[in-house]
Amino acid sequence: MAEDEAQTVTCPHCRREFVADLLQGDTERHRGYKCPHCRLFVPLERVEQPSAESSAFGAPG
Ligand SMILES: [Zn+2]
Repeated sequence: MAEDEAQTVTCPHCRREFVADLLQGDTERHRGYKCPHCRLFVPLERVEQPSAESSAFGAPG
């Protein structure tokens, strides 16, 4: 069961890229990556997908 693949992730907190293995948690909420820069845990749902970057900065409303 060596499905963990290293992936490049952009930390939503410090905005830095890092390569990390996917952490398999007990639940989906505990799956994600850990930023080596700020030690923030980035859940999978918070990981920005590649080629999805746009100039949409800031929340509408
Ligand atoms: Zn970070």
